[in-house]
Amino acid sequence: MSDEVWGWVRAAKRIAVLTGAGMSAESGVPTFRDAQTGLWAKFDPSQLATEEAFRAKPSMVWDWYAFRREMIAKVEPNAGHKALADFALRYPGRLTLITQNVDGLHQRAGSRHVLALHGNIADDKWLDPPKACCNAAAAVAGSPPYCERCGNLLRPDVVWFGEPLPLRALAAAEEAARACDLMLVVGTSGVVYPAAGLARTSAGKVVIVNPHPSDLDDAADAVLRGTAAQLLPQLLED
Ligand SMILES: [Zn+2]
Repeated sequence: MSDEVWGWVRAAKRIAVLTGAGMSAESGVPTFRDAQTGLWAKFDPSQLATEEAFRAKPSMVWDWYAFRREMIAKVEPNAGHKALADFALRYPGRLTLITQNVDGLHQRAGSRHVLALHGNIADDKWLDPPKACCNAAAAVAGSPPYCERCGNLLRPDVVWFGEPLPLRALAAAEEAARACDLMLVVGTSGVVYPAAGLARTSAGKVVIVNPHPSDLDDAADAVLRGTAAQLLPQLLED
């Protein structure tokens, strides 16, 4: 752990934190590929996680998500998730949390107002723009659930291949990057858009927390080699 970086955290008035898959590694969240077991082994996730696939075979895609939801429900937030949530509680308004993860572990650790750039696998939304009759709480149970009046289907509220990121969350993330004194980039390779763009437009210092080299290391003011669960509790403690 670097005393210098610890000092930057103490001094920063606005901290943006961007987390990726490595954030949840110690929670044991199965990756997209890990979920391809048993019955699902013969399917390619890129063929399932699309709007076209869902429209063509809604119940197959829904069941695949139900399986992934079950796997994710069994894992727990780690010490890194908790450190971020605790810091935000102690210092309201100082930390903006941006995540590429859909596992919902930040939210389960107690973080609020998470900017979930790829959605949250635990949530549903309507496949087609909802009409007045579409009430998710009253959807008819099924695989997938649907609106009894118009037949609109519920789908997982995640960003599928070929879909744009949620505009409001992305705009808020870009604003947080531009306005921060310090950005922590945790457990992301930096290859996946928009992580690289956010880190490179950061107005503040950029600190990478990652046990592995990432494409963003060259843009960083400091690189901390370790995992989120190891390093964030030390970095964010008082
Ligand atoms: Zn409806």
